[in-house]
Amino acid sequence: AKEHGRNNYRFYKPEMNAQASQLLALENRLHQALERREFDVYYQPQIHINTGEIIGMEALVRWRHPELGLVSPGQFIPLAEENGLIVPIGEWVLRTACAQNKAWQNAGFSPLRVAVNLSPRQFQQPNIASRVALALEETGLDPQYLELEITETTIMQNLDFASEMLRDLQTLGVYISIDDFGTGYSSLGYLKKFPFDKLKIDQSFVRDLKDNPHDIAIISAMITLGHGLNLKVVAEGVETREQLELLRSLQSEEMQGYLFSQPLTAEDATNLLHNPLIK
Ligand code: C2E
Ligand code: CA
Ligand code: CA
Ligand code: CA
Repeated sequence: AKEHGRNNYRFYKPEMNAQASQLLALENRLHQALERREFDVYYQPQIHINTGEIIGMEALVRWRHPELGLVSPGQFIPLAEENGLIVPIGEWVLRTACAQNKAWQNAGFSPLRVAVNLSPRQFQQPNIASRVALALEETGLDPQYLELEITETTIMQNLDFASEMLRDLQTLGVYISIDDFGTGYSSLGYLKKFPFDKLKIDQSFVRDLKDNPHDIAIISAMITLGHGLNLKVVAEGVETREQLELLRSLQSEEMQGYLFSQPLTAEDATNLLHNPLIK
């Protein structure tokens, strides 16, 4: 231990301390962020590739830190996952997104699905299905218009538990997606065992998608795999026309990405629903 201590000193840099204390400050502040109403939910449209229709919206949380401004979920979600705050934050996102979707339906827009991310810790609560059921009941949203996004990694952490929870969620009638597909375990056996509806191809595969035979081979295999298992396939992170055309030719039916729209405030998303851009 002494040895380690000495090594640490040798490598010590003042920035480390600054970084650590910044993280600590962020975490302290995170505890109060919910009651201070500093969170907001943004919505990113999911588009049907052939019709250009908006068929869903992914709910993405944002934190408006009073001093730091907008803090990205990439920074605070891992913190919240570690200290457990993700549970109340995630539940707030779930309720907010369901209520927003219900409001869109009440306003007369054709029904779409709202997709909510479930973190590992959230998913691993034994009563997750009844919590989801409660959020649906309280907001009056029909279960078929809620989609839950769960990563491969979350599922692989405990297969038996995941299997039971996914069945409970399926019984509720919600839609279930595998998020970040291709980045977690490469074992594919779990795919046929669980009641998924949709596969979201991780954006790392889409980002490099040019007219390169290797990239195309990989993404094409993922799409074929998804379809063979009767799943809808969504490509995430579509930024260019070229990527869109390639995905179209490979029969991917849905896309999400900056090419169509960045994540939007509820107000901007509502405006977009009023004036959907025809692509
Ligand atoms: P994710 O679930 O994979 O969400 C997609 C991320 O990609 C979002 O980042 C979105 O803004 C970004 N994105 C969408 N289209 C494009 C594109 O064309 N190009 C690029 N470069 N990026 C694109 P965001 O909102 O910063 O969220 C990052 C991650 O934080 C999410 O990844 C998700 O894992 C997590 N997250 C966000 N909101 C929540 C939440 O409410 N609950 C939980 N548990 N996690 C969340
Ligand atoms: Ca997601
Ligand atoms: Ca289902
Ligand atoms: Ca994703």
